[in-house]
Amino acid sequence: TKLQIGLLFGGCSGEHEVSIVSARAINAALNAERNTDKYEILPFYIQKNGVWQGNEIANQILVSGQALEKPNATNINTKSSLWEFPPQASEVDVWFPVLHGPNGEDGTIQGLLTLMQVPFVGSGVLGSAVGMDKIAMKTAFAQAGLPQVKYMTLTRSQIWSNPCVFPKLCDEIENYLNYPCFVKPANLGSSVGIAKVRSRQELETALDNAASYDRRVIVEAGVVAREVECAVLGNDNPKVSAIGEISFESDFYDYETKYTQGKADLSIPAALPDTISNQIREMAIKAFATVDASGLARVDFFYVESTGEVLINEINTFPGFTDTSMYPRLWGYSGIPFPELVDKLIELALERHKTPE
Ligand code: ADP
Ligand code: MG
Ligand code: MG
Repeated sequence: TKLQIGLLFGGCSGEHEVSIVSARAINAALNAERNTDKYEILPFYIQKNGVWQGNEIANQILVSGQALEKPNATNINTKSSLWEFPPQASEVDVWFPVLHGPNGEDGTIQGLLTLMQVPFVGSGVLGSAVGMDKIAMKTAFAQAGLPQVKYMTLTRSQIWSNPCVFPKLCDEIENYLNYPCFVKPANLGSSVGIAKVRSRQELETALDNAASYDRRVIVEAGVVAREVECAVLGNDNPKVSAIGEISFESDFYDYETKYTQGKADLSIPAALPDTISNQIREMAIKAFATVDASGLARVDFFYVESTGEVLINEINTFPGFTDTSMYPRLWGYSGIPFPELVDKLIELALERHKTPE
């Protein structure tokens, strides 16, 4: 009998559309010849308003590749959209949450699936939550001795405090971090809400904007560096891939650069001295264990060529997973083709959820 794979995609996040593209690629890989005898796919689509749709609508979305623009509200009960699951959800043997960003990559869905007591692909509640929250993540990395840029953290209430406090806060940021610096909401992805700022006025605007996305905000010293990424696959003894590099013309790797075809180039393998590649791979494994990630993660770094320094930027516990995304391409280069990769992820999910005898 085939394992029933609950392919979960869409979601309440700015990365809804990317999730659909990732899910289409994963669906195709699960249907590839080497996997068809093993798996049957039950797709579930989470609308932008949080309502779950079962196989029929989810299949339509997988075929069309288009989000439901007028989300169906009929199965929303009084207060919460979440509690009415499509009936097919009870048939799922392993969940494959293909969700990026808040409400999907941040531990919330992982909490729900944990309560269901059904194995799922990827990190659990802790790894997902720590990986998504840039403040928690950086605190954990610092404790593990992983080098990173200088940063400061602020709360929305500090940013939106009375007009006497705010200028002092900006002074502190300027003194400690200088310009340019990067202002980011603590809990987003795909560069949403992130600004590179070069002046007091830009700083003020960026802080206000970031605070509108999240209760907590992080400000980092800007670094001039090459951006390199490494893929991790496994649970307690994970494997690491070759290193990939991203290059682009724009000011930084913002949303538009990430998702407009032709705006960013990926090169695999990155042209790096072996000592640097090895250092990056070691740091990636350490970062993976530090946040308690499982299954998969992409760990992103800044390589400051002038000084030879490698700084960790972030970990993404459910990185972009389209045919052209860095994560599957890194594994393709490192000897694991896409269909084998999704198969491995399901095996890892089962392994992680096995209870000790
Ligand atoms: P996200 O989780 O949304 O991808 P990142 O923290 O990776 O957010 O930032 C997005 C991009 O912004 C990075 O890929 C890089 O181009 C730029 N960036 C972020 N922080 C810095 C920094 N401290 N110095 C230089 N560039 C940065
Ligand atoms: Mg990220
Ligand atoms: Mg990033």
